[in-house]
Amino acid sequence: MRVTASANCAIKKALLGQGEVWFPFPCREGDYVRLDTPARNRYIWVMNEKVQAGKPLTTQPSLSLAELKRLYSDEDSCKALLRDMRWPDGVRCPRCNHALGDRVYNLSRKFHWVCKNIECGGRNGYRFSVITKTVFENTNYPLSTWFEVIYLMTQSRKGISALQIHRQIKSGDYRTAWYMVMRVRAAMKDPELKKLLGDVIEVDEMYHGGKAENMHRSKRRRLALVGAKGKVAVIGAIARKGNVVCRMVENTDTPVLDSFVRRVVDKDKVELVATDEHSGYRLLKYGYPHEVVKHSAGEYVRGIVHTNTIEGFWSLFKRGVMGSFHHVSKAYLPLYLAEFQFRYNNRKDPDIFYKVLAGC
Ligand SMILES: [Zn+2]
Repeated sequence: MRVTASANCAIKKALLGQGEVWFPFPCREGDYVRLDTPARNRYIWVMNEKVQAGKPLTTQPSLSLAELKRLYSDEDSCKALLRDMRWPDGVRCPRCNHALGDRVYNLSRKFHWVCKNIECGGRNGYRFSVITKTVFENTNYPLSTWFEVIYLMTQSRKGISALQIHRQIKSGDYRTAWYMVMRVRAAMKDPELKKLLGDVIEVDEMYHGGKAENMHRSKRRRLALVGAKGKVAVIGAIARKGNVVCRMVENTDTPVLDSFVRRVVDKDKVELVATDEHSGYRLLKYGYPHEVVKHSAGEYVRGIVHTNTIEGFWSLFKRGVMGSFHHVSKAYLPLYLAEFQFRYNNRKDPDIFYKVLAGC
């Protein structure tokens, strides 16, 4: 469907069940909008609102917690959503990818199928359900609870601890909540480092854990605290007004920092790479428009050269870790980073809940 401002055409208001929700799209005049939302079957599109060209309509989530609870209160409605999201063009065997009807049959049990293709289940058949090979497999918890956990995790900016989740969903055992949260976190993980888009990219390192956090970075460096005594280094790059990429690293030596930047920053498209004066970045001048702010000399901003955006992301992360998680061990740090990265990069996506669900 084409968006035209003059035609008063909007794709944002949807009637949902008994109630009404706003379903905003960041669409522009002239855009073609595919109605490919996961929950498309539930929406009736009403075209009576004006789309302002170039302006995202709103960043409100498309779903409130109350609506989520109403819509997905029972197992069948949750499973129907998962099925529609997972197989928008019809059910397929998760093992051999044959479609329903192609020696893949419905079982009498709802949302269960059997595949009798020779290379797959054969004569006995391979049985699968809508949750086979998803994070929901092998859990005794209702899907409606899982949905609520995912929702809570996507909506809190600084993250939500397993303990808070435990209280909210009233899970009998804290470990259950912890297990669910960890699996959802894993579903938020980007499998690879993606190139950042943007004119100005800021790159910076952060140190996690221990008292070194309270020290000035020059002192930490002098004391060589990185890597030792349980301190862990994280490197991140951020496009201003764009996305962030961060990774835990073993050390902050030149090869590590330099190769990270070369992997995530496209040198043909970037206009400025801003870092602090860490010597690990000194080789970036070969190939990149690299500028440095000298924090040690008290310089934090020089025109457009600064690292405030990435430092804002670090402080969001640290406040999250301190406020909600209290302690994050090195083993789990990559998962927490993935969660914060995912939430930051999808901060304007009203469908963030569905996006996580799709990764599950
Ligand atoms: Zn199969």
